[in-house]
Amino acid sequence: MSDNVLEKEISVSDVILEVKRIRNDFPILSERFSSETGTVKSLVYFDNAATTQKPRAVLDALQNYYQHQNANVHRAIHKLGERATFAYENSRKKVAQFINSRSTREIVFTRGTTEAINLVAHSWGRKFIKPGDEILLSEMEHHSNLIPWQLLAKDRGALLRFIPFSKSNGTLQMANLNHFITEKTRLISVTHMSNVFGTINPVRGLIQKAHERGIPVLLDAAQAVPHLPTDVQELDCDFLAFSGHKMCGPTGIGVLYAKEKFLEDMDPYQGGGEMISSVWLDKATWNELPHKFEAGTPNIAGAIGLGAAVDYLSDIGMEKITLYEQKLTTYALSRMQEITEMKIFGLAPFRGGVISFYMGKIHPHDMAQYLDSEGIAVRAGHHCAQPVMRKLGILATTRASFYFYNTYEEIDFFIEIVKKAREFFGYGTQ
Ligand SMILES: *Cc1c(COP(=O)(O)O)cnc(C)c1O
Repeated sequence: MSDNVLEKEISVSDVILEVKRIRNDFPILSERFSSETGTVKSLVYFDNAATTQKPRAVLDALQNYYQHQNANVHRAIHKLGERATFAYENSRKKVAQFINSRSTREIVFTRGTTEAINLVAHSWGRKFIKPGDEILLSEMEHHSNLIPWQLLAKDRGALLRFIPFSKSNGTLQMANLNHFITEKTRLISVTHMSNVFGTINPVRGLIQKAHERGIPVLLDAAQAVPHLPTDVQELDCDFLAFSGHKMCGPTGIGVLYAKEKFLEDMDPYQGGGEMISSVWLDKATWNELPHKFEAGTPNIAGAIGLGAAVDYLSDIGMEKITLYEQKLTTYALSRMQEITEMKIFGLAPFRGGVISFYMGKIHPHDMAQYLDSEGIAVRAGHHCAQPVMRKLGILATTRASFYFYNTYEEIDFFIEIVKKAREFFGYGTQ
């Protein structure tokens, strides 16, 4: 099996996205800003690794829910309650299909990737991790896939180990994997795609190796599910976490996919309404999957919005999205490398559209601010990955990250402004 989605033969004509038409689906992309000098700037949104914009289909689904369906789910014996429950559970079906899960019992709605990982660390980890056990992560994890395991390790007396990454190109150093997987490894939890380097990690091979030794694998797919076709059965991961807002959906909704046998074995994450079957004053029994893990009134509108996002992405086609973004990223990288002082962190052969960069004299925040003055939204900072920055020996990078609604013209404009920043901050003037 291959880890490179691009190896699939898709003719070039299939890759042509009707980006103009697609952009019309996103009202916010026509926002304008007037600068201090009074000139009007169009929005160039290159902060998609932080959150993505929402198409009208998603905005409409939210509006429609509150206008025509609003009621609490699962409980009411009235028409609105039935509508809300149907729409909520129908979204779960859509999500299950989108990642090719076997059943809706494997799809738990959460607040996002962060809550999904915390759920596993809490419910699975606190039950199955014993003192001396090891959890294997990588050095390139988002804090969301690091801190929950630190908390668990401290609580249970377990040890965290890390697959290192190469400073030269931001890929995981998998050659010595056997050194990191030991007799005591109980779980491997890694990011499918790095939110700093854009690296797409070879997770299929890793999962196969782990399973040969009976070790379950969690994938942080916050950057993967929005950009790559995802098939949990083909990947054979045991847990997979992602966020709605990074894939055109609303904030405050995300997904934990887990194989049913794991969810069956796990205790509830939170207690409250909805997650129970029968309750006495001194004990309770649990609702069936996945409701056992959804205590309290869920983010009904969010789930329905995510269902609409999934429909929207499926209509365009995830393979097309991947290929278009790959081409756009290759173009951006080659144009950025025209600039002498440009240092790009993460030049993996298989990568997505997240580009972290640095130009020696220019502070990453100054660069971001300069770009913002021209309407270009990028991020500057540690990208919730302080250990990554520490290993690179820097405090921050500027990060441009793309989605399928971005264009070649926007990249040209970005390059033009980066070159202007370079002169403004004192390069190329000597
Ligand atoms: C954004 C992100 C997260 C956290 O997602 P939330 O939506 O903030 O919960 C975790 N991991 C990666 C790789 C991310 O990019």
